[in-house]
Amino acid sequence: MSASLEKGINVLREQVDASVASFFSSCVHCGICAEACLFYTETGAPERTPINKTEPLRRIWFNEYTFLGRILSLFGIGGKVTDDMLEQSQTLVYDSCTLCGRCTMVCPVGNDIAAMIRKTREGMAAAGHAPEGLIGATTRAVTIGSPMGVKLPALLAQIKHVEKDTGLTIPLDVEGAEYMLLLSSMEIMNFPEFIEAIARIFAKAGASWTISTEAFEATNSGIQIGASDIAAELVQRIVDAAEKLRVKTVISPECGHAYMAIRWEGPNLVGKPFGFKVRHVLEVLDEFRRQGRLKLSGKEEQTLTYHDPCQISRRGGVIDEPRQLLGMIADDLVEMPDSGKMNWCCGAGGGVSSNERADELRLQVFKRKKAQLDAINVDAIVSACSNCRIHLEDGLEEYSMEIPVISLTETIAEHLVDDEETEATA
Ligand code: SF4
Ligand code: SF4
Repeated sequence: MSASLEKGINVLREQVDASVASFFSSCVHCGICAEACLFYTETGAPERTPINKTEPLRRIWFNEYTFLGRILSLFGIGGKVTDDMLEQSQTLVYDSCTLCGRCTMVCPVGNDIAAMIRKTREGMAAAGHAPEGLIGATTRAVTIGSPMGVKLPALLAQIKHVEKDTGLTIPLDVEGAEYMLLLSSMEIMNFPEFIEAIARIFAKAGASWTISTEAFEATNSGIQIGASDIAAELVQRIVDAAEKLRVKTVISPECGHAYMAIRWEGPNLVGKPFGFKVRHVLEVLDEFRRQGRLKLSGKEEQTLTYHDPCQISRRGGVIDEPRQLLGMIADDLVEMPDSGKMNWCCGAGGGVSSNERADELRLQVFKRKKAQLDAINVDAIVSACSNCRIHLEDGLEEYSMEIPVISLTETIAEHLVDDEETEATA
């Protein structure tokens, strides 16, 4: 057995806990999870049934932690975890799963299949059987601080443009600020308008905020590839910066898995509660709304729909906030079928977008999103995850659908009352 395979098997063993044992023991093989997964519904491939994607972990549990499995193993009966088996599992565990959690919602015995696939990835990555693209992104995240290789000078250059366009100063490394904003590399490079939107909204709301030059990256490739030690290291960088600046709240930006990583997995990864709050940017904006600090004017004339990012809505619970915010600026909001907690994934989360091998499959399963959009008639799609945004644009282009995709935060900023309106209402 190679050293890397041994390491991977040991890591899989470490993943087997009471919840994993009870999940595998209680699975009744009903197949209901298959119909919840876009990788199954859009391909019809039985091997893409969600629970099947946990096979490497199931084999370790069965062979080593069950009486029958131990007996069968003595006679060399039963599937073993081998390098070949793990290599062949890659296209299921990584390419065919966005960790969207939709399968988890429908399992009649409450099996958190998405969490188990995430655990399976831990063993796969440790054994060296992870996609090249994700390995590269994770390496860059550790060595450079960003999965896309975005360094501080690139951020500072974008900030300079934003300051020139807005006439506002973007606060850097301000000790004692109330909020510390994180950004995804995607926002820095593709959507710097997001930084501009935050600057304008927070100035109007009178909120003190800052960006740390030591930890500005929100995304966490360690979560996606399945390397908890790396995920913890990336979270710790943010914790150190937030503690150094003594901020009260860290804001997770328009990125789905970043929110999951820092808010819901973060304290467990670093092994202690945070001394600050973590909120998604939409939660902060909705709080401003409730406090009367979000003063907007005018309504969108176009018909809008909201795409719920899986990690923000289903896994994160931020479902009402975007709708309350949209209610301030849109009279014509149309829900897609299955919107909210059962929304269908864009197909690119959970590291799929970093995995070039999965590009064709990613676009194939976009047919599910197309079907959701074909059922309604809208002028634009609003979302709150830059990864969803990029992939929605990609998928819409693939299927010749001309629907613009816009950011909720940026759209809110476009409706801020201007200074004359503020003075007139004062
Ligand atoms: S829905 Fe739950 S019980 Fe049914 S096959 Fe999937 S994991 Fe097993
Ligand atoms: S988490 Fe989502 S993509 Fe992964 S198996 Fe479940 S339903 Fe499919």
